[in-house]
Amino acid sequence: MINLSASVLGVAAMASTLFACSSQQQESPMKAKVEEYAHVELKSDLVSGLNDKEKELVKIFFQVGEITDNLFWKQTFGDKSKLDTITDPYAKEFAMIHYGAWDRLDNNKPFLSGYGEKLDVCNYYPHDITAEEFEAFDDANKDSWYTVIRRNDDGSLKSVWYHEAYAEEIGRICALLEKAVTLAEDPGLKNYLEKRIEAFKTDDYLASDLAWMDMKDSKVDFVTGPIESYDDMFRETKTSYESFVLLKDEARSKDLAKFVSMLPALQKELPCAPEYKTFVPGTSSDLNVYDAVYYAGDCNAGSKTIAINLPNDERVHALKGTRRLQLRNSMKAKFDKILMPIGELIVTPEQQKYLNFDAFFWNVTFHEVAHGLGVKQTINTNESVDAVMGTEKTSWEEAKADILGLFMLKWVKLQTLLPKMPLLLILQVFCVRYVLVLHRHTERLI
Ligand SMILES: [Zn+2]
Repeated sequence: MINLSASVLGVAAMASTLFACSSQQQESPMKAKVEEYAHVELKSDLVSGLNDKEKELVKIFFQVGEITDNLFWKQTFGDKSKLDTITDPYAKEFAMIHYGAWDRLDNNKPFLSGYGEKLDVCNYYPHDITAEEFEAFDDANKDSWYTVIRRNDDGSLKSVWYHEAYAEEIGRICALLEKAVTLAEDPGLKNYLEKRIEAFKTDDYLASDLAWMDMKDSKVDFVTGPIESYDDMFRETKTSYESFVLLKDEARSKDLAKFVSMLPALQKELPCAPEYKTFVPGTSSDLNVYDAVYYAGDCNAGSKTIAINLPNDERVHALKGTRRLQLRNSMKAKFDKILMPIGELIVTPEQQKYLNFDAFFWNVTFHEVAHGLGVKQTINTNESVDAVMGTEKTSWEEAKADILGLFMLKWVKLQTLLPKMPLLLILQVFCVRYVLVLHRHTERLI
């Protein structure tokens, strides 16, 4: 059976244990920090639409997810069992929420003594490496998304592929995914899983990313692998393992389908000179609504992701675009537990009627659409904009997505394709979202 109300909860499950603690433990300075987190039960009515094989698949994906969760600990913290020595249960729970000793929602401020500042290099690189040493290291794979940098016995640097560095875990992941392949009935899902196994084994993810783009009809989706590079603050290239298990909301996805065909037209409408908008987004990009039933690894650290725009590989963007997945049950929880309380504080009472979940939904949805558009190559040298932006790329990309998202909403409304939704509602919610972002210093929270 799929237990969607226990294994997926993470924060909520931990917190209920804490409330049973003695009064002595409740005096912990970490108690207030843990209680900043709202408890939400991740549920999905969509489970009832799954057949027995799909439910079996979900269970296997949970198991793969657990392995990627442990890999993420290894990549960004090290030996997770070190935390077993923490006697303050609140401090321990906070460390579990943040996957380490540093508060991810407070600029990685250390909250456990003895661990120091979070290293920019995490465990992707030798802890004592310098920027100069890395620059001087002559190796074609040193900036690969899928290599770690280690030292040879003589102290010199070497690149090691993830599938070699984490061979034991990758072996277990692939064995589980082989089982999943035999259960998968949807041809798109089957093809993706087969190619993903190869990707885990070789660290060449392109074919499986393309197969994931072609996976249009599966009710169960499984995003898994080394994907985002948020934790590599040294080079912003090394990717962290994570897994999402998602169930497709087919009815709501149909409502969104009409926007996909509009992407090339939207790109042409961008308010900039023509030479900056020659990139043509792939028309097989899709925009769908899901319920999230499991988070593991990177996407579960600190805050929960509520919208996904993947793959990150620009070669896939050019060939097929990206897929945008809106995680509706998580979005609704964030709206109820975070956005509304802030809105009630900062929005004048007569305007609070403009705070509604649908406005939030559209705001976040178009933020994601905006990630897929814009300038991808420099106009003078045809280089990747991401590569040229270097460590500045993430901040500017998020700022672009926010502003461009609002611009596009206005344009879409002019085309009268959006359901009756006063723009004021969306702008109001955008403002509340921004207060939240500024307070938390992180886009990922929302
Ligand atoms: Zn974003």
